Amino acid sequence: MPEPNYAVELSPPDIEPYRSGNTGFDYVTTFDSGFAGPHVLVTALTHGNEICGAIALDRLFRAGLWPRQGKLTLAFDNIAAYRSFDPRVPTTSRFVDEDFNRLWAPATLDGPRQSTELARARALRPIVDAAHFLLDIHSMQYSTAPLMLAGTLDGSVALARRVGIPELIMCDAGHAAGPRMRDYGGFGDPASSKTALLIESGQHWERRAAEMATDVMLRFLIALGTLTRDDAQLLAGPDFDAHPRQRIIQVTEAVTITGDHFEFAQDFRGLEVLSPKGTLIGRDNGREVRTPYDDCVLIMPSRRLAKGQTAVRLGRFLS
Ligand SMILES: [Zn+2]
Repeated sequence: MPEPNYAVELSPPDIEPYRSGNTGFDYVTTFDSGFAGPHVLVTALTHGNEICGAIALDRLFRAGLWPRQGKLTLAFDNIAAYRSFDPRVPTTSRFVDEDFNRLWAPATLDGPRQSTELARARALRPIVDAAHFLLDIHSMQYSTAPLMLAGTLDGSVALARRVGIPELIMCDAGHAAGPRMRDYGGFGDPASSKTALLIESGQHWERRAAEMATDVMLRFLIALGTLTRDDAQLLAGPDFDAHPRQRIIQVTEAVTITGDHFEFAQDFRGLEVLSPKGTLIGRDNGREVRTPYDDCVLIMPSRRLAKGQTAVRLGRFLS
């Protein structure tokens, strides 16, 4: 199937000014209001080629905004992968050795295995441990509507509704290949008050993704009382005042690749609604994978079709 060739409309910002930071961790900066309030963490470059998050954080730094309460920490995650970003081959810098966002299980973080991403995840772990709220900024391979990934906890869905954009909120348990940062520790624990969101801002290279990333970040910080609306107005983009009717997609399962060769039956891009039940999705080493129910929504079909990885997630609209 032909791969879409998206123009690279975004330029990776220079983040060297943020290397030294003030936390003792490279590329991690904490602003302390001096007043009581939550510790809010916003992260970018969990995947090194998803540059819209770096653009959003760069804008926030440059605006010189200071939290009104609590603390605000801004972190750039997979710096090694980001450094290898090349707009001529923009898909190759997602990670160096492995996916940074599949390592967030204590057994993995505490285990003996070594990789570029594990070293960085271990370094950042105390930062993630210290945060009450997390927004992790991502983008997607295909150009589809932005998605807020709210995990499985009610508190995360409630926060996604308070943020108010984007239109689509996805409730999901992540990937068989390993837990994401947004599911780590208290962020995945219903008994904890910690809450995390992950925004898929749009296609990796489109200007729109940087606008969405920025507006979601601002509205996340307003919702938590870190910034006021007046503070944030300075950086507002086209969705700053948007109030779409938000809809929830409940993910029911992930199609995890079990064979050496997986192919999709059609050139799926994501958010297709397939009916009836039993529609062919793809073939995993020849084994047919079909939709388990009517009106099945395909979520973020992958272009990296490797054994053990998620090919696509399946869900249904709840509202
Ligand atoms: Zn990502």
